[in-house]
Amino acid sequence: MALFHASQYDWSKPVDSFWETGRAQFDSVAAPSLSRDETADVAIIGGGYCGLSAAYHLARAGIDVRVLEAGPIGWGASGRNGGFCSIGASFLGAAELKTIYGEDETLAFYRVLVDAVRLVETLAQDEAIDLKRHGDGVWTFAHKPSRVGELQAHAEVLSRIGLSARVVDTASFGREAFACTEQFGALHESVGFALNPLAYCLGLARAAAARGARIHAQSRVLQWRREGEHHRLVTGGGSALAKHVIVAANGWLPEELVPGLAGRMMPVLSNIVTTRPLSDEELRTQAWRTDAPASNTRAHLAYLRMLPDKRLLFGGRGDTTGSPAGGAAMRALLERRIARLFPAFANIETTHSWRGFIAATRRLTPAVGELPDDPSVSFAFGCHGNGVAFMTWAGRELAKRIAGTATALPAPIHGLPPKFPLPTLRLWQLRLMLARAWVEDAIA
Ligand SMILES: Cc1cc2nc3c(=O)[nH]c(=O)nc-3n(C[C@H](O)[C@H](O)[C@H](O)COP(=O)(O)OP(=O)(O)OC[C@H]3O[C@@H](n4cnc5c(N)ncnc54)[C@H](O)[C@@H]3O)c2cc1C
Repeated sequence: MALFHASQYDWSKPVDSFWETGRAQFDSVAAPSLSRDETADVAIIGGGYCGLSAAYHLARAGIDVRVLEAGPIGWGASGRNGGFCSIGASFLGAAELKTIYGEDETLAFYRVLVDAVRLVETLAQDEAIDLKRHGDGVWTFAHKPSRVGELQAHAEVLSRIGLSARVVDTASFGREAFACTEQFGALHESVGFALNPLAYCLGLARAAAARGARIHAQSRVLQWRREGEHHRLVTGGGSALAKHVIVAANGWLPEELVPGLAGRMMPVLSNIVTTRPLSDEELRTQAWRTDAPASNTRAHLAYLRMLPDKRLLFGGRGDTTGSPAGGAAMRALLERRIARLFPAFANIETTHSWRGFIAATRRLTPAVGELPDDPSVSFAFGCHGNGVAFMTWAGRELAKRIAGTATALPAPIHGLPPKFPLPTLRLWQLRLMLARAWVEDAIA
């Protein structure tokens, strides 16, 4: 069910992201569209991190696999995100996770998150993927003094699993990172870094293809039918008959094709702008010293990083239509936020503005597993805007489960999340959630 404006589901349209401008130098994979009837052990819907990581790991295990992607490879969130390779993937904080799932399962989930970041590093090393890695660690800065406590709780959980994380005061953050009109101390996690998301995605595609996975771009799955023990996925040009299907479409989940997943995912638009390259003088005025990505504690969070060529990348959420007018309004909003947080950058032109879907679930944690009534259909979705590392991990996990080598999933991410009530009205629920977030930001 297409909840947003039709333009968000137009696979013929370029993404218009800053990353897209450098696509040609990383795009070295032959990904012909599916043009006849083919077979595979596993067919994957979606050519982002999840689908490509699953394909890579399945092919390494000697399993015959095909990826079907509706647009160019990396057309979805994987080719257009902010490039934070960090731990996250849930809208629940450490304390809330512990209350719901208990200490052991929460720690198991955090170990997965750390493992996910390490997996991206390992893949890059093993497969010579040039991530365009930038910055070490990740900052989260408190937008109000009252929010420092949650950073401390997060740091404590990280230290319980042996990771270094430190909470610094306003002055130290200013000395180490940047000057900002709205920061009251910050958390620095040692795990994580920034990368070029499209370079990583295309590198993963190349690695999967080199291991024997067949990858088909411009091959949108339009129909899905059962043929005995097999699934037939039909595209405009051909079909793939497979014993097993992985649904790796995240925020673009084609719910009409997979009734078992319908109504269980909330697509949320995330918007990004990049400025022109900033001068040394402009950077000095904001005392900019860090290459590490950063975000704040607002429910309407701001996420930002200085790119290698000194453009500020600045992102946020709030567009509930997906229309061209909604995109223009978000661009103006993000420009106003930049000016408010960084006065020296007010009136600096933004050169690129784009958006895409992140996926939320009703339980506010990701979902990984198989359909209860059909274990030959696997899924992973709902990483709440933090999926560079997590969806790579989830793809590997789904591959392991098919190959029969997986271990148990931590409770916070295992299996299907509940349906949203009245799924056709999800956009209205999202509007309500965003309105609540404005209030929370104002009072908490
Ligand atoms: C603007 C933005 C900023 C973000 N910033 C960050 C960040 O800095 N750090 C971070 O960790 N995460 C970030 N995220 C989230 C992250 O990008 C995603 O969680 C991750 O890329 C999801 O990977 P995926 O493979 O599951 O899905 P996607 O990369 O979205 O891939 C799904 C694919 O499925 C395809 N598809 C859909 N329907 C069909 C069909 N019927 N047939 C064939 N193919 C189909 C789509 O075209 C799409 O390419 C951001 C997301 C957005 C949108």
